[in-house]
Amino acid sequence: MTKKLRILVASALLVLPATAMAQPETPVEEWKGKTILLVGAHPDDDSLSQGTLALLKANGNDIWIVLLTTGNVGTQDPDLSRFELATIRRQEELAALADVGIPEDRYINLGYDDGLLEFQDEMEVVGQIVRLIRKIRPDVLFSFDPGPTYRRWHKSDHRAASYLTADAARVAMWRLLFEGQIIHEGLKAYRVPEFMFYDSPKEAINTWVDISEYAEVKARARTRYVSQFGPGWDKYEGPDRTPEEQAAAEKQALERMKKTDGKYVEGFRYYKGFPDSMGK
Ligand SMILES: [Zn+2]
Repeated sequence: MTKKLRILVASALLVLPATAMAQPETPVEEWKGKTILLVGAHPDDDSLSQGTLALLKANGNDIWIVLLTTGNVGTQDPDLSRFELATIRRQEELAALADVGIPEDRYINLGYDDGLLEFQDEMEVVGQIVRLIRKIRPDVLFSFDPGPTYRRWHKSDHRAASYLTADAARVAMWRLLFEGQIIHEGLKAYRVPEFMFYDSPKEAINTWVDISEYAEVKARARTRYVSQFGPGWDKYEGPDRTPEEQAAAEKQALERMKKTDGKYVEGFRYYKGFPDSMGK
């Protein structure tokens, strides 16, 4: 390569946005036969990705959802107890997942209290996520974006979930960390090869998934979170809606969904490589 050409290539690389450097080799829309694990903080955190999850499920991928808290705090209804709210949030999550095509046996909730995740014992939470990563052995891990090169701001719980999950992905590959899982539980160390970070800063998104075929499914799933979106937030009166109310709720969810060039899309920061370098 001549000096002139080298300079040309170097300057071309400099002007390329960093976000264009990492893309899945096979478009997400064509993924088949993969094991997918999504980790979130609350029942409904997966709703940011439910278009992609519905698409992946329909294409024959095996999808697991792990949520760290029960969602037992987030309400303005003065009459709901934590126990009642946790029960409601479980039912809502399972109803939404059923719309997406994910069965109950693929949903795991670790049972931590809503709103207090970052005050839990980090080693205990990381150990639990590590155990699940070593059991499920996902090809792709979906998680809140811990931030590329800097710490991403999220609200409490999301902030904790992003780092706890990133740390767990890093730990899972080292057999001498949480080695009790390997000696006594028959698990093996496991390195997650690919990541899809959701709720990323706009400038860090490098992968857009066309979810147009699943937009209605995503909208319907969104309406299942009755205690979080809609009148159930102030006064919960059960999951049932009249057919008219249901149709109106689905229409509103569809209208609020992100659309680019006439297509419904979900954006992610995709990363492939050593978990140690997921922020580079
Ligand atoms: Zn949340």
